[in-house]
Amino acid sequence: MDVLHHLQSIVGPENAIEGNRADKRYGSDETEDLYFPPEWVCKPACTNEVSAILSLAHELNIPVTTRGGGTGLAGGALPVKGGIVLSMERMNQILLIDEENLQVTVQPGVITEVLQDTLKARGLFYPPDPSSRGISYIGGNVSTNAGGPRAVKYGVVRDYVLNLEVVLADGSVIQTGANTLKNSTSYNLTQLMVGSEGTLGVITQIVLKLIPHPVFQLLLLVPFNNPVNACAAVSAIFKAGITPSALEFMERDAIAWSKEYLGQPPLDETDDTQAHLLIELDGFYEAPLYEDVEKINQVVQHFNAGEILFADDEATKKELWALRRHVAHAVKTNSVYKEEDTVVPRAKLPELLAKVKELGKIHGFRSVCYGHAGDGNLHVNILKDSLDEHTWSILLPKAIRQLFEYVHELGGTLSGEHGVGYVQKEYLDTVFSAAEIDLRRQIKKAFDPRGILNPNKLFPDS
Ligand SMILES: Cc1cc2nc3c(=O)[nH]c(=O)nc-3n(C[C@H](O)[C@H](O)[C@H](O)COP(=O)(O)OP(=O)(O)OC[C@H]3O[C@@H](n4cnc5c(N)ncnc54)[C@H](O)[C@@H]3O)c2cc1C
Repeated sequence: MDVLHHLQSIVGPENAIEGNRADKRYGSDETEDLYFPPEWVCKPACTNEVSAILSLAHELNIPVTTRGGGTGLAGGALPVKGGIVLSMERMNQILLIDEENLQVTVQPGVITEVLQDTLKARGLFYPPDPSSRGISYIGGNVSTNAGGPRAVKYGVVRDYVLNLEVVLADGSVIQTGANTLKNSTSYNLTQLMVGSEGTLGVITQIVLKLIPHPVFQLLLLVPFNNPVNACAAVSAIFKAGITPSALEFMERDAIAWSKEYLGQPPLDETDDTQAHLLIELDGFYEAPLYEDVEKINQVVQHFNAGEILFADDEATKKELWALRRHVAHAVKTNSVYKEEDTVVPRAKLPELLAKVKELGKIHGFRSVCYGHAGDGNLHVNILKDSLDEHTWSILLPKAIRQLFEYVHELGGTLSGEHGVGYVQKEYLDTVFSAAEIDLRRQIKKAFDPRGILNPNKLFPDS
């Protein structure tokens, strides 16, 4: 059977093309510089088209890799076994904003920031805000259970998904739950789909819970001359009874490189600041926020903080957030690197950071760390710098394995928000037992007996 011809009959000739004629981006995402050419790229416009494509793929045993915005950092959207890349870019409608029930129904291809801005204009808030929100899709966010800076107060994507429409591997269409705030009816398929990285089905419609949008935000940048002290201050802030709406950690190089990337003046060479905490407070009344600022000021002094920069105008707030949100791209332009998405109980963050630096000394690599410190989520960027290929290829897997084993010892796990995808699957045994992995394999088999959905992801030898 001519697969291209068949795909074109489903989505129209202009929306299905052979991989070698497609833009290179369909074979890559934001994970390092990995590239795998797809055989076909297909852009459905509705659930029925997704269903017809999956029926065909199921019948012919063709791998299907669903693609959102392609901003993933675990290689989830890479078509590593070729086959069809199913791009959700045309399924980009906000279908219903239900202000009575505080819910929104969207297609998976809606850009995260577009949804947030549309809702904000109506005083509504959908908080999960990955730093990639200007380019990532809601469907990708659901499929990776994305987080972002505001997860620390408001929770991750999982906490906002009420119901999903999903096309299964054989083309059948299901609803996973109900559009309700409570649901005790049988197994929770909605939450099983969240974070399943395109391995169990294709999400074609999403119902999200909303909350009222807070009115006031204050933003502080707190410098420390010792990064471990900065990490230790994080749990002390919560212990003092404050729940910031964001609490981000950035090592000196993270800020310095982000400034360079954005074309801003460099950090002062004579300043011995080695790390910063970016702390946001939000709410519906201003006065209590200023009380929290005072409390934070008192807490951080116990950790030798320097002079706090208080962003009291929108331009400074925007500038500081831009610095934080561009760290990932800035690191990419500085060195070949490997980013890990470690997460530990919040108070263990200082130990995690110290271990990263110790591993760097043992194996001879430099690292730059940043991330959602309030969640205990540290993005560890291991830099290749001038290491030769051979040394890099030997030290990297060893160091990562030791790092994940330590994270597990601390009660944490290997990914807080990016997922397992293609690049972390070999390390699954550092955090799960054989029985725990096997149970997950059985779930995969029940949903996708022929193994066509995003093959070679999530499991070590898949
Ligand atoms: C600069 C930068 C900053 C980032 N910051 C954050 C951050 O703060 N927090 C965070 O959590 N992540 C962050 N990320 C990672 C990334 O943006 C998230 O993982 C995001 O959720 C991916 O969304 P996407 O639409 O780009 O998905 P893609 O990368 O296209 O896909 C991700 C996975 O979801 C699957 N998928 C996509 N759509 C569907 C669907 N409709 N049905 C089934 N499966 C699907 C894919 O197969 C793949 O496995 C960042 C990335 C970058 C580049």
